[in-house]
Order: sequence, then C-alpha cells, then structure tokens
Amino acid sequence: MDRLRTFLRNAAIPDLPPEVRNDFVVASATTVQKQGRWLFAGLLLTCPFAALATPDGAGWFVQWGLPGLMALYCALGLKTLFTNFQFQQKPWRAERFIMSSWQSSLVGALISTSWAIAAWLGADDGVRLYYPVILVMGSLATAYCMASIRAAAATHLVVDIGAIALLLMLTGSTLDIATAVSLGVAGLFQWRMINEHHRQVVELLLLKRKSQALAMTDPLTGVLNRRALLDFAGELGAQGGQSRLLIIDIDRFKAINDTHGHDVGDAVLQDVARLIEGAAGDGVRAARLGGEEFALLGSTAALPPGKALPLLAAIREAAMPHAGRVTVSIGVAEGTLEDDAAWRELYHRADKALYAAKRMGRDRAVHAADLEAAEGAASPRVVPERRVA
Ligand code: GH3
Ligand code: MG
Ligand code: MG
Repeated sequence: MDRLRTFLRNAAIPDLPPEVRNDFVVASATTVQKQGRWLFAGLLLTCPFAALATPDGAGWFVQWGLPGLMALYCALGLKTLFTNFQFQQKPWRAERFIMSSWQSSLVGALISTSWAIAAWLGADDGVRLYYPVILVMGSLATAYCMASIRAAAATHLVVDIGAIALLLMLTGSTLDIATAVSLGVAGLFQWRMINEHHRQVVELLLLKRKSQALAMTDPLTGVLNRRALLDFAGELGAQGGQSRLLIIDIDRFKAINDTHGHDVGDAVLQDVARLIEGAAGDGVRAARLGGEEFALLGSTAALPPGKALPLLAAIREAAMPHAGRVTVSIGVAEGTLEDDAAWRELYHRADKALYAAKRMGRDRAVHAADLEAAEGAASPRVVPERRVA
C-alpha cells in the first residue's frame, strides 16, 4: 500500500533535488516568461470572438464583462512579461515570478471557466457543447505553456476541465458524459506530459551540474582546477577591489616520487591539497594549478597575508603518507583583477616571489611587495656598457 502511495505521489509530483532547485527555478521562470507572451497574445485575440459567440441568454456581464476582464488581464500580463527580470543574476525574482504566475493563472482560469459555464448554461441545447470544448482547448494550450510551473498548469487543468466536466457528467445526457470523459482524459494526459517534462528538465540540470563540477575539479585532489580559479578571478575582478594570490609549491617533491613511487607522491599531493583547502575559509578558493603547485585566491580582506605562516607550519607538521616531512614555499602578491592582463601580472609577481622563496632556502613565504621594494632599493642598476665574459 505504501509503495503504491509512493508511486502515485512520484507520478503526480516528481521530486526536485535541492542541488538543482535554483537552476530549475531560473529555467522555469525564463521559459514561462517567453511562452507566456505568446499565450497572452493568443488569449487576447480570442476575447472579441468569445464576446461575439456568447449566447444572448447568458446576459450582458457574461457577453461583454467577462471577455473584457479577460482582455484586461491579458494586456496587463503581456506588459509584465516584457519586464527584464534578470532571473539568472537574481534567482529570488524567479521564485517570486513563479508564485505570482501561479496566482495569475488562478485568476485567468476563474475568468475563463466562469464565462464558459455561464455561456453553456445560457445556450440552446444544440450548441451548448461548443463552450466546454472552447474552454478546454484554451486550458490545454495554457497548461502546455505553463508546463514549467506545474502548480500553475495543474490549476488550469483542475479549475477549467474539472468544473465543466463535472457539470457535463451531471446532465445525464450520454453525449455530455462522453464529452466530459474525453475532456478529462485529455487533461490527464496533459498532466502526464507535464510531469515527464519536469523529470527530463531535472535530469538535464543534474547532468549539467555534474559535468560542470567535473570540468572545474582536479580529479586527483578534489580541489578546484586552474580553469575554475580563472573563473573565480573573473568574479573577483567584477566585484572590484584588491585581491591576494598565494602560489604554493611543494619543496623537493620530485625526490618523494623518486624515493617512494608516484602513488605515494599522489597521496602526498592529496594531503597537501586538503591542508590548503582547510586554510581557505569564506570567500577564498583553493586550487591545484598543476603538478605540485597550488593556489589560494581571495579578496585582500578575505585572505589576509598572515594566512601564509600557519599554512607553512600546518604542512610542515602534518603526518604524511611517506612518513617524512613535507614543506612548501609560498609566493604572495596583491593586485586588481579587472582583466586577463591584470591576472597574468598578479600571477607573474606571485610566481617571482615563489622562486625567491625557493632561492632563499624553501619552507617560507615571500611577499612580492617586499621583494619589489628590496629590488627597488638596490636600483638603479647600472647596466655595464661592455660585458666581461
Ligand atoms: P622544488 O623544491 O624546486 O619545487 O623542487 P620539486 O622537486 O618540487 O620540483 P620539480 O619541478 O623538479 O618536480 C616536480 C615533480 O612533480 C615532477 C613531477 O613528476 C611531479 N608531479 C607532477 N604532477 C604529479 C602528479 O600528479 N603526481 C605525482 N606523483 N607527481 C607529480
Ligand atoms: Mg616543487
Ligand atoms: Mg613546481
């Protein structure tokens, strides 16, 4: 029984995994915004026909009032849908858009259903079946356009088809009952299609997330790769302000490989990566640049220069897979990241500081600013006119 209930629940409302919720909300809102324009334009076009097709017996309000209301609703909807919501940058707007689309759907469904039921009640026997059919065709089209927002699509199917199908069933006429059954079946199939669409979108979003993670992660150590670090540098650049880069290179790593084998070398890389990632903190990203070279990048506020010393100590004191000691050398530099050239400049200065740390004996951090100040103090360098070999 429980399994049947779970099956029915999953068939009606498939799960939305939390890791793709944001992406799903943005994608749904974007799709509905695009489709909704066509929907409102189409509905607006049907309003004068609805007014002309209303039977006299239905009364003035049904003939002119309800189609007029519908036209106003469509015009307002169209105006809203031409707003630039920037869902990608502001997912909370997408969430709000979905909620208001659902409410707006209910209003639209109530107007159209009221018109169709009133027209059906006021029409002669020979023509009254046209009204449920007009309503349900509109409802199916609307549910299709709103498929990305299942609650809105379901509202249309239930309010539009449910109400009129129930009334048709109650008349006792075989033709009415047959119409009601066929409208109901059309609605059910539409609902199945909407759920299938939902499932496929969720599957694609999960796949996209997985491939993005794979493309951004270093497979050996699990930290970000160089490409991901470059993306983050772009983000920091867009925020403006100063950033700090630490390039961290394992000292004499080749000797570990040569003495203990590459598999042990790999395990050392994993342990060092874990320690570097542990030092990252909020707003700072750790990445493997390649080989035995890692980086920490963040704004100068998120990544203070004082991070280097405890990191040197943590790596020096850590128990390593080959039972030996591992040390690293660190080059530190600060700069802005407004474009690629600024990134290359920052990277170059941190790299120069790293090699100075190697030259000075390893297991230490050198700041590019200190190095540059020292070089500045030593200059102006006199370039000899004639070199003596
Ligand atoms: P230094 O102190 O000057 O940095 O010396 P080093 O030995 O650390 O530097 P070197 O550039 O001479 O050697 C780096 C070594 O890192 C050589 C390469 O075989 C090794 N290496 C690069 N990638 C990997 C990897 O993924 N796994 C393992 N096990 N070794 C790697
Ligand atoms: Mg090295
Ligand atoms: Mg190296």
